[in-house]
Amino acid sequence: MTTTTQSTTGTGPLLRVRNLTVTFTGNRSAPWRRPGTTVAVNDIDLDVAPGETLGLVGESGSGKSTTARAILRLLRPDGGTIEAAGFQVDSFGRRVPAAYRRAVQAVFQDPLGSLDPTKVIGDIVAEPLAIHFGLRGPERDRRVAGLLDQVGLAAHHARRYPYELSGGQRQRVSIARALAAEPRLIVLDEPVSALDVSVQSQVVNLLEDVRERTGVGYLFVAHDLAVVRHASDRIAVMYRGRVVEEGPADRICEQPAHPYTEALLAAVPDPDPARQRLQRARRRELSAAAPVPGGVSASGCPFAARCPHRMPVCADSFPEWTPVTGGGRVACHLYGEPPTTPEDAR
Ligand code: SF4
Repeated sequence: MTTTTQSTTGTGPLLRVRNLTVTFTGNRSAPWRRPGTTVAVNDIDLDVAPGETLGLVGESGSGKSTTARAILRLLRPDGGTIEAAGFQVDSFGRRVPAAYRRAVQAVFQDPLGSLDPTKVIGDIVAEPLAIHFGLRGPERDRRVAGLLDQVGLAAHHARRYPYELSGGQRQRVSIARALAAEPRLIVLDEPVSALDVSVQSQVVNLLEDVRERTGVGYLFVAHDLAVVRHASDRIAVMYRGRVVEEGPADRICEQPAHPYTEALLAAVPDPDPARQRLQRARRRELSAAAPVPGGVSASGCPFAARCPHRMPVCADSFPEWTPVTGGGRVACHLYGEPPTTPEDAR
């Protein structure tokens, strides 16, 4: 079965992923044995409209970063199609066109690891200007100053090395470098996870400003649902390689439909004591889920082993999509007649 996230704007999608599947081959346990395989991403669909942010959220091992890497063409998927910024990515051979590298940029979690430590910030930000636009001399320097200003850094930062900046400043440099290529889509893979909480919101606000000014679209990949909500128009929730719920960010966080989305929300600290009690009860429910007799088949619900609402059908069959009141949809056997609300299903 296929899972789809639908963009909210009427224009054609900036990113359109269909039936994406990525499998990893492990080591052989013995020379005569076949190597084991792991399906990291299992038949997912995603859409991002121009100027939109889709949050892709899930815990470690959910397949969200593998999805990001497939879109960036840092790995080759086993199946499915990817159209991004007008390019048919799945048809690329070994060489990825420079025009694609320009149109779809990436910002990663660890800015120190992704910025050349031997170069000053001005040269790091200038590199894409030289590669993609052939800019040199004063024109290039003016553009670098403009980009640093756009991300809230001063002109003197151009003469600093990455190690001389704070984590938040380094991530601003990564964003400036991505913007230098004038991309249409930026894939942000855990862009604020390594930053202090106060700096996280500054960087998320900066991304929002940049999006409003440039019209760029984002795929915002993160494990923290609170951060993803702050950053995104829509959210797709991934669990063990599948998208299990998608919809407007506020609906997903106020009225989660999928038990796994509820579990993610229960892990988000909440200052309200009444909500804290509810969260504790949800966490207890989840940890009390009994093992599935006979296990869960590869075609079953990926959350069946942990789900407190599990039914016999869940272990063998991945659910059809059901629309949810308030927008989006859920893949869960608790839901049937569309449209429905999470309360109706319990
Ligand atoms: Fe739980 Fe079944 Fe829904 Fe999966 S399909 S989340 S196991 S109720």
